[in-house]
Amino acid sequence: MSTTNHTINNANIHTLIASNQFGTFFGIHQKVLEAVWSNLTQPDGNSVAYISMEIGADPDVYNPVKQRLIDLERTSSMDNRLKGFIKKLFQGPEKIPTYSGGLGVLAGDTLKSFADCKIPVVAISLLYRQGYFSQIVDSKLGQIVQTVKWQPEATHGLYLLHEPNNPKKPLHIEIPFYNADNQMTVIKAQVWMKMEINYSLDYFIPEILLDFSLPETPELFKIAAGQLYNSETSIIKALQRRMLGTGIIPALRKLGITSNTYHLNEQHGVMAILQLIAEELHGVVGYPDLSKATDQQIMEATDKVALRTIYTIHTPVKAGHDRFDKSLYAGISHSSCQRILNLLAHDEENPHTYNFTTMAMKVNRAANSVSRLHRDVTHKQFPQFARKISAITNGVHHLTWISDARAEVFNIFPELRNWQHDPGVFAKLGPLVQDPRFRSYLSEAWKKDTAILFDFINTMLLQHRNQKLETWIDPPNFFSSLIDRNTQMNPQVFTVGFARRFSTYKRADLIFDNLDTLCDILVSNNWPINFIFAGKAHPADEPGKSVIKLILDYQKELYKKSNGLANLIFIPNYDMKIAKMMVAGVHAWLNSPKRPLEASGTSGMKAAMNGVPNISIMDGWWAEGYHDGQTGWKFGLEGPVEEANLSESPETLLYSEDSASFYQTLPSILKEFYQTGNNSAFLDKAVMNLALNIPVFNTHRMAAEYLMKYDLRLPEEQKQEMRHFRSLYNSNS
Ligand SMILES: *Cc1c(COP(=O)(O)O)cnc(C)c1O
Repeated sequence: MSTTNHTINNANIHTLIASNQFGTFFGIHQKVLEAVWSNLTQPDGNSVAYISMEIGADPDVYNPVKQRLIDLERTSSMDNRLKGFIKKLFQGPEKIPTYSGGLGVLAGDTLKSFADCKIPVVAISLLYRQGYFSQIVDSKLGQIVQTVKWQPEATHGLYLLHEPNNPKKPLHIEIPFYNADNQMTVIKAQVWMKMEINYSLDYFIPEILLDFSLPETPELFKIAAGQLYNSETSIIKALQRRMLGTGIIPALRKLGITSNTYHLNEQHGVMAILQLIAEELHGVVGYPDLSKATDQQIMEATDKVALRTIYTIHTPVKAGHDRFDKSLYAGISHSSCQRILNLLAHDEENPHTYNFTTMAMKVNRAANSVSRLHRDVTHKQFPQFARKISAITNGVHHLTWISDARAEVFNIFPELRNWQHDPGVFAKLGPLVQDPRFRSYLSEAWKKDTAILFDFINTMLLQHRNQKLETWIDPPNFFSSLIDRNTQMNPQVFTVGFARRFSTYKRADLIFDNLDTLCDILVSNNWPINFIFAGKAHPADEPGKSVIKLILDYQKELYKKSNGLANLIFIPNYDMKIAKMMVAGVHAWLNSPKRPLEASGTSGMKAAMNGVPNISIMDGWWAEGYHDGQTGWKFGLEGPVEEANLSESPETLLYSEDSASFYQTLPSILKEFYQTGNNSAFLDKAVMNLALNIPVFNTHRMAAEYLMKYDLRLPEEQKQEMRHFRSLYNSNS
């Protein structure tokens, strides 16, 4: 069942097109399509359905098909069948903005690694026509939310599937919704497929995206379908979860996909599990009504479905766990489902609500946390399930996040041969650690990436200055009023990056808690420093938005108090492309959450992939990636993980304690940085990140650990490869 290797070269580029009964697809060979489809449609169900509310995989950050055509200098085609596809690829839009942050980007990275490792997986999510949101930032108003305009129809790699053998008719699924009187409304969705094509172009993971925004869709449903994490009202929020969860099984059936294992990437799609339980029950008590089922029958059906379910929990933070009023849920689901929910989703703390984390935690055969520390937290939060919760520490897709300049260096050294296919080769960096040539190339690549970031920032600042003259927007950077074509941000200055969602527990403003202390350190040593910040706050998260505003408010004060030594820049509208530029271009990556609320964090791993050291609280992945200071710096309190530390309320966020610890650590960092030269301890840390952290915090290793939970049959060759990736790290040891 494994696909053979189809080397793509100039001679056979015209074979990069494939068709089946649902459409015609560009970027893979016909044989690849057939092999992938055959894997997913086998009667024995030897495949996994991976369910996620969001998938972040923007084609402007990673696109192996496009890259291959560029390498072969085939950026246009005379072949009539290919022409349209290639035009779309090179001239069409390059963003699929249906993710909000770490959860979605992790899903995208995971699927890319599944594709590279040829694991039979299909992913399912929703297609949001208004994406998440676009962020404008005004220095007086803070974050301003704008609707996203994107065009699925014009985007390369995204296909509207059609009815079998009828290209004129889009494939539809129909989902029943109920009101409080059990009256049914059928809501339709059309079905898109994004292809996550692997690095070698000889495998792909289909991402099935359900699109409920049809002209005939009732208004409330349209709103729920339109925008990721729309939480205007709880009913809209609940409908959105329901659309994902209940859409999954009909969509897979329509496509003939037989996956026997369901992986819930967070609990948002848990309604799929409810549906499987209902089907099991119908098998026992018949149709149409489940009211005859006894509690025991319900629990037996649940046990069967649990055997097919894997659940990844991503956060200890309450906002990440869906809870809905029981009465509200009665208004959108059939009464017989409510009996099941009463048994499975009962919230101990609040008997009037359903808690979908509780349900996902109950109905699975294995659950996992996303780091070791998070496993300990999860064990404290769910003691009754501790036995089945293990750690599978997150990773990032190394081919996506390693910059072009760094990749060029890795390509030169024979010791790193095959790094594209095996992130484990960095574990054998050995002699290169002290190799002056390697160190100097790496340092040059770093400078190149810093130059790219600073070009972007300087251009942005000039634009902000012009914007200020032309529009009502007061741009988000005090510094834009200071620069002109002669004075720009200086890339030789020590530059710290911070970018992620603005949630209060992430404490973006922590290091500015005491500006006097911070500026004293800088001024007394004459150390210049740049801080580059980015990130969105959920539109309904008022405290999160106020932290953005605080960052903007600090800009001028910081500049003045440090006598111009410190510049704080905010880049609006954070996305994967900005993330990639930042993690490779800065000199250190800052992570300042309240321990232990950051379950994993992945942006720091992206920095580590490029050899950029982290300065971080000992939380999430960093407790595993710090290696006694060989790869970066730690600060902040490190007590044992107790229930009492899980509070998110403002007075428990430890601002003064942890910022004081940061100010203690900062001088040694700056000292190391400004002692330049290719023998510096700073470059040591860069090299050690490659050697110690790339082999561990990559999604190939993570996928191999997931595979242990999936219990799939694979060809021997692949099994061996997976064993190798697992040998790189054991998240649970
Ligand atoms: C990686 C990434 C994140 C996640 O960053 P964390 O450090 O896990 O918070 C969020 N948004 C984007 C665009 C990313 O690329």
